Amino acid sequence: MAEPFFPSKESTLPFWRTEPHELDTHRSTPELPKTCDILIIGAGYAGITSAYHILKSLEGKGSSPNIVLVEARQACSGATGRNGGHLRPAVYSLLPEYIRNYGISAAAEVAAFEDTHVRTIADLVAEEKIDCDFTLTKSFDVHSNVEKAKAAKQAYDELKANGVAKSTIDGLIWTDADRAEECGEQGAEPANQHAGYLTVSQFRSVDRHNGKRGKIHPARGICSRIVVPPGSKHPPLTSSYGLRPEGVGLDYLIPRNDGSIIVGGARSRFRTHREQWHSVTDDSTLITPAENYFDGYMQRNFLGWEDSGATVDRVWTGIMGYNSDSLPSVGEVPGREGCFVIAGFEGHGMPVVYLTAKGVAQMVGDGVAYEDAGIPLVYKTTKERLESDRDDYA
Ligand SMILES: Cc1cc2nc3c(=O)[nH]c(=O)nc-3n(C[C@H](O)[C@H](O)[C@H](O)COP(=O)(O)OP(=O)(O)OC[C@H]3O[C@@H](n4cnc5c(N)ncnc54)[C@H](O)[C@@H]3O)c2cc1C
Repeated sequence: MAEPFFPSKESTLPFWRTEPHELDTHRSTPELPKTCDILIIGAGYAGITSAYHILKSLEGKGSSPNIVLVEARQACSGATGRNGGHLRPAVYSLLPEYIRNYGISAAAEVAAFEDTHVRTIADLVAEEKIDCDFTLTKSFDVHSNVEKAKAAKQAYDELKANGVAKSTIDGLIWTDADRAEECGEQGAEPANQHAGYLTVSQFRSVDRHNGKRGKIHPARGICSRIVVPPGSKHPPLTSSYGLRPEGVGLDYLIPRNDGSIIVGGARSRFRTHREQWHSVTDDSTLITPAENYFDGYMQRNFLGWEDSGATVDRVWTGIMGYNSDSLPSVGEVPGREGCFVIAGFEGHGMPVVYLTAKGVAQMVGDGVAYEDAGIPLVYKTTKERLESDRDDYA
C-alpha cells in the first residue's frame, strides 16, 4: 500500500506540545507564494535548523534569498516534538557495526561528529538564549541481557584497544554487574557508564521529508511522561539512562527538573508486531502492545522507587524516518539538480541533525561540495544507495 504523502491530521498529544509556542501555527502569508529561491519542506529539527543555518550564513553578505518553509501540521509536530529529548551520542553500541560495514575511518568520523553535537548544542542554547529545558549530565547504559552485555563489553574493549574515536571512548567507563546498583537500576548485568553527555528537551526545529520515497519508510515510536506525587520518597535521578532490556531495543530515560521523567522505547513489546509500527504514518493512536508498557516502569526498574507512587502522566506516538540502510540520507538527490534531502534520522536525530543541517545550508547557499561540508561521508545520498536492494527492516 502506498504510504500517504502527508502526516495524519489528528495526533496524540506529547508532553512537549502541551503548551505550544506562539510560532506553533504561524503562517507568514495567507496564500503560499508562487515562487521562492529556497523551499524547505517540513518544520522539524532538520528543516528549521537548515533554515537557521542558511540565514546565519548570509549574515553580513547583503544577500536575502526568498525562503519558504512549509509544514503540513504545526511546527515540531512530527518526530521532533514527540521524542525522548535524549541527545546522546551512540558510540560503543553503533561503532562496531559501522566499522564492519564502512571501515574504521568512516566509523571514527561518525563518532566524532555525534560527539561534537553535545558541546555545539550547549553553546547554541547559550548563544541564542533558547528557552528550553537543557541539562548537561552523565548518562548510563544498562544491560539486562548477559549475552548482549558481554558483546557490548567486547565492543567497548576493542574500540578502546584500537584507538577508534579515542577522545569519546576514553570518556566512557565500564561498570560490572556487582556495582550496577550504583546506577540505581534493578537486576542489571554489566552496566556501561558514559560521562559528559547531555539531555535536551523541547528543541524547536525542520525537515525535508519524502525526498526519497521508497527508501525512507515511516516507523512509529512510542514515548511517555511519568510523574511522581508530591512528597514521594525515592532516590534522586541525576543522570540520563539507556536501558537495554531482554529481547530487542533500547529504552531511554531523562529526568526533568520538574521531577517528571520522560521514558521512551518499548520496542521489546512491539518489534514483532510489524503492522503496528513499520510504514505507519498515523500518530493519532498508540502502539497497542506497548500502550501499558510504561505503567510501573520506575518501580520495576529502579531501586528505591518501589513505593514512589510514580504513575504515567501521558503516552504518545511519533513517526520517524527509517532508511533502508539505517543511515541518514543527505545531500543533493542524484538526478535532481537543486533538490537536497536531509532525512532518515531514525530514532537518533538529536546528536546528528544540527551539524548535518549546517553542511546542507553550505551546499544550498554557497554551492559547497558535500565532501567539504563537514558531514560524515557515509550519510551522502548516492545513486548506489538509492538503487541498492538492501533493506534492514524487510
Ligand atoms: C517517539 C520518538 C522518540 C524519539 N526519541 C529520540 C531521542 O530521545 N533522541 C534522539 O536523538 N532522537 C529521538 N527520536 C528521533 C528524532 O526525534 C528524529 O530523528 C528527529 O526529530 C527528526 O527530525 P526531522 O526534522 O527529520 O523530522 P520531523 O520532526 O518528523 O519533521 C518533519 C516535518 O515534516 C512535516 N511534513 C511531512 N510531510 C510533509 C509534507 N508533505 N509537506 C509539508 N510538511 C510535511 C511533518 O509534519 C514534520 O513536522 C525520537 C523519535 C520519536 C518518534
